[in-house]
Amino acid sequence: MKFNTKTIHGGQKPDPAYGAVMPPIYQTSTYAQTTPGGHKGFEYSRSHNPTRQALENAFASLENGSYGLAFGSGLAAIDAVLKLLKSGDEVISTNDLYGGTYRLFTKIFENFGIKFHFVGMNQASNIEQYINKNTKLIWVETPTNPMMNIIDISETAKIAKKHDVLLAVDNTFATPYLQQPLDLGADIIMHSATKYLGGHSDLVMGALVVKDKALADRLYFIQNASGAICGPQDAFLALRGIKTLHVRMQRHCENAKTVAEFLNAHPKIETVYWPGFDHHPNHDIAKVQMKGFGGMLSFVTKGNDYKEAINIIEKLKVFTLAESLGGIESLCGHPASMTHASIPKSEREKVGVVDSLIRLSVGIEDETDLINDLKQALA
Ligand SMILES: *Cc1c(COP(=O)(O)O)cnc(C)c1O
Repeated sequence: MKFNTKTIHGGQKPDPAYGAVMPPIYQTSTYAQTTPGGHKGFEYSRSHNPTRQALENAFASLENGSYGLAFGSGLAAIDAVLKLLKSGDEVISTNDLYGGTYRLFTKIFENFGIKFHFVGMNQASNIEQYINKNTKLIWVETPTNPMMNIIDISETAKIAKKHDVLLAVDNTFATPYLQQPLDLGADIIMHSATKYLGGHSDLVMGALVVKDKALADRLYFIQNASGAICGPQDAFLALRGIKTLHVRMQRHCENAKTVAEFLNAHPKIETVYWPGFDHHPNHDIAKVQMKGFGGMLSFVTKGNDYKEAINIIEKLKVFTLAESLGGIESLCGHPASMTHASIPKSEREKVGVVDSLIRLSVGIEDETDLINDLKQALA
């Protein structure tokens, strides 16, 4: 099945009870049994729920995986992956990372004796020097947030395999429409389904997808034992959202290209971070690894002036100033004070998250309105 069919049919069947084409919202905590253990595969909704299961099957199908798991948030999904580890284990992570992931790693899991190395992974060869016998996991985010660096997943997977270390990829920015990390050798895919998979800024959810049965069993055990599941209403909304993922992503990519090219040519703009430019340092990898360049970009103005950046943000009307990304509507954000405020200034400036950096999540509105909005804000 091709991807554009999978979003609609992949892993999805009419509901067995009455043939409902969309899985019903099974708003129930428990299921009647005829005799102890005599049930139809569902006992208690933390363990299994039919609506959530339909979504988990769809997640697995989209990523060419075998098993999907849905969580109450992206961070709950990351939390479940980290619970595969134990005290003394080490993790090598992308240094230019979603702020909440950095906070979870350093403020929660370091307390449990897990050691993290934050590494610039633009060169996959940088990773190897941090590997030792305690290394259990490599955590990759690509494109990175908000600097839009691209990490070579295949090269990283080769290193992970060679040293028998798990490779997890946060595929939130790219989505399976643009990049399929399991096919490139990753072991675990993680999503904040809050973003493009849900796509309508109406839910908070996380996802994991894997191929390996033993790994899926361990993660399912953690999901059930720790309990950070999503509810059936949100599962229904996410199922509805992913049915249009391919058309939304196509338009996100087209609009982001138009916006990136407009900003790049604007006299007030210093740098635009978008992997579609020939001059982007990882453009060659992006071209091979991704089917398009996505809907996200960041930029800094000439003079790198904090006040000017805030002024631009305040003047934008079609782009709404808000946290989050990946919805149908265009959003702008100020990483230094919003998504990345939990990373110390010295740390974030090392990777380019300066005070004047503005991040755009380009939506699927008419591109003329987006360009006109940017024009008036920059005037
Ligand atoms: C939003 C986001 C997360 C966290 O997901 P939540 O659903 O907000 O918990 C993780 N990684 C990336 C890249 C994100 O954008």
